[in-house]
Amino acid sequence: MPAVGVVVVGAGVAGIACAVELTAAGVPVRVLDRGRAVGGRMASRRIKGRPVDLGAAYFTVRDPEFAEVVARWRTAGLARPWTSELVVLDGDGRGRSAGPVRWAAPGGLRTLVSEMASGLDIELDHPVSHVGPGPVVDGEPADVVVLAMPDPQALRLVDPSSEAAAELAGREWRPVIAVAAGWESRQWPALPAAFVNDNPVLSLVADDGDRRGDGAPVLVLHSTAEVARSHDAAPGGAVPAMLDMLRRLLDVGVEPVWTHTRRWRFASPAGKRDRDFHLGDDGTALAGDGWGVSKVETAWRSGTMLGREIARRLG
Ligand SMILES: Cc1cc2nc3c(=O)[nH]c(=O)nc-3n(C[C@H](O)[C@H](O)[C@H](O)COP(=O)(O)OP(=O)(O)OC[C@H]3O[C@@H](n4cnc5c(N)ncnc54)[C@H](O)[C@@H]3O)c2cc1C
Repeated sequence: MPAVGVVVVGAGVAGIACAVELTAAGVPVRVLDRGRAVGGRMASRRIKGRPVDLGAAYFTVRDPEFAEVVARWRTAGLARPWTSELVVLDGDGRGRSAGPVRWAAPGGLRTLVSEMASGLDIELDHPVSHVGPGPVVDGEPADVVVLAMPDPQALRLVDPSSEAAAELAGREWRPVIAVAAGWESRQWPALPAAFVNDNPVLSLVADDGDRRGDGAPVLVLHSTAEVARSHDAAPGGAVPAMLDMLRRLLDVGVEPVWTHTRRWRFASPAGKRDRDFHLGDDGTALAGDGWGVSKVETAWRSGTMLGREIARRLG
């Protein structure tokens, strides 16, 4: 049994999945997150009395072990299969794209991470500012420290000459501005969600009432990376152009009665890695959706596989 244990920085799905594995193996683990809630980019916020997903729009399932977790969520009423067909909006009009089942959460995707996190030792509102050799986390020793977050956020924490820094450097992450908008009543034709292709302003439109199953007249719009970059300092400035584009694409003529904006400076990485995680000899480990194709399932798998490997190394 290690004397100090593992410190996981980041309570998104990757960090929590890692902590779940370590706990199951009997390894002491503390999870630290600067946010006020677990979930990271699986972010849901209560707006006008109901949850709205402002980060990940949905998730998909391929890995058989992840499927077992999702089956548990489904049995508990936390997750529901939403749709396997999405609308595609592009210069040629409106089409449909068949694909894997997209899963949604009636209470918001964050509730799924909360369920996984139940019983873990988690400290919220706890920003970490430095991970040094040892490893030490803000001066406190750990057997292993796991950084489960986007590369640019992890890069700020480690020493520039470290092995981890070399793994993290030089990879671009794309930003997104998410705008939730609510109307008095539905103004658009049936729409689970739409990929918006080759558009300068929008990349995705999701029907939050449809995915949540309550039919609320709420859409969530995701901007392109270009729009997010040009409105980085004041994301609210992107709202008029995003709503204007929505009007043109879906013929929504009526103004929404409310909007809520959320900026994601590091929404997803450009490109992918072909490893599930990094575990350095210096005790610094890296996990998250940057380790594979960026999606919820990748982040879960990255954290799970890393947790197993750390438990094996610590004996
Ligand atoms: C707009 C958007 C749309 C998306 N759409 C989809 C989709 O449709 N389907 C899909 O599968 N995936 C989607 N994703 C991606 C999905 O959300 C991520 O792959 C997944 O949630 C990543 O989990 P993670 O644990 O790796 O990282 P995160 O969820 O980012 O967790 C990192 C955590 O680290 C914490 N942290 C960072 N720095 C510090 C620090 N210094 N100290 C303490 N804590 C810190 C953060 O607060 C955060 O909680 C989307 C993401 C965004 C932003």
